[in-house]
Amino acid sequence: MIAAMDINVQKVSTSKLNTMSLENLPFGKYYTDHMLEADYEDGEWKNIEIKPYQPLLLEPSTAAIHYGQAIFEGIKAYKDPAGNAFIFRPHDNYKRFNLSAERMQMPAVPEDIFMEGMRMLVDIDKNWIPSQEDHSLYIRPFMFSTDPVIGVKPSEKYKFMIILSPTGPYYNKPMRIYVEEKYTRAAPGGIGYAKAAGNYGASMLATTEAKNKGYDQVLWTDAFEHKYVQEIGTMNVFFIIGDKAYTPELTLGTILGGVTRDSSITILREMGFEVIDTERVHIDNLIEAHKAGALFEVFGTGTAATITLIQELRYKDYVMEFDTNKWRIAPELKKRLNDIRYGKTADNHGWMYKI
Ligand SMILES: *Cc1c(COP(=O)(O)O)cnc(C)c1O
Repeated sequence: MIAAMDINVQKVSTSKLNTMSLENLPFGKYYTDHMLEADYEDGEWKNIEIKPYQPLLLEPSTAAIHYGQAIFEGIKAYKDPAGNAFIFRPHDNYKRFNLSAERMQMPAVPEDIFMEGMRMLVDIDKNWIPSQEDHSLYIRPFMFSTDPVIGVKPSEKYKFMIILSPTGPYYNKPMRIYVEEKYTRAAPGGIGYAKAAGNYGASMLATTEAKNKGYDQVLWTDAFEHKYVQEIGTMNVFFIIGDKAYTPELTLGTILGGVTRDSSITILREMGFEVIDTERVHIDNLIEAHKAGALFEVFGTGTAATITLIQELRYKDYVMEFDTNKWRIAPELKKRLNDIRYGKTADNHGWMYKI
């Protein structure tokens, strides 16, 4: 067991916070005063420290740079109106982190290093949690292989780190989405369900081509037929059709199982929707529903992006356009989720982890 005292803490002498404002922040550009760093060597975790945020010195042969044993998480901390700091569902991210680690043949990070390390780090930098609407402290735990060996095999050494970024909204306006049919994000047996670095590098060409056509992101489809929709960028996707909500199922391992997806399913059920989350979603069904006037809302869910409205979905030459100003469901979901996160309403699900 790691007790707080086993984490060596070295604090900055002056906070950078004095030189900057936490208003109107971009996403993921500024970092707090401290970071957590731990090393895996000889089969155990050691050198667990919280220290001033600083560059790393790495060998050019560092394995992760060459073969991509690298995974991460995205979590957010919020302040309630009384100024108490909370982290949203960190245990769920902890579980997913080690699922990603297993898939990438990396060691599990023990719960006490991940959770107690995160709790202490956020506590030390809690003055960096913004209080402005749609702002939060983004927590980025990550791990990568560090063997200085150019050989394709699981590394013997790893680094686990956590950095913190005070941050504003990821996307702040409704998005235009291109349904991708040429490139594939994930196939059964692959790494789609893992938050592994390579998934994002591999997605960028499709996103660039979609941007060149005037779209913000792609909606990925299955690898075989390009007919069953998967997810968007770093968001899971929901469709309101008639009086039901649909989100693609996870058992094929081709979709990242979002914590926000899970929270949204719970809240939508509380709002009275039947949520279908155990079936695939075929593009033809979406088009049929749209033609029948029954596809009411389309939105993405994710920690970084929260709930993002989709104003246009394009499949081949068929364009589905929406007047998001008239929507009631996604905005209500977003409000309920934010009220829990910002401590404005009771947390009946045990989602908020107090610092
Ligand atoms: C992180 C991520 C999501 C959203 O997961 P959350 O836990 O809700 O933040 C969805 N899709 C992909 C590909 C992701 O990387």
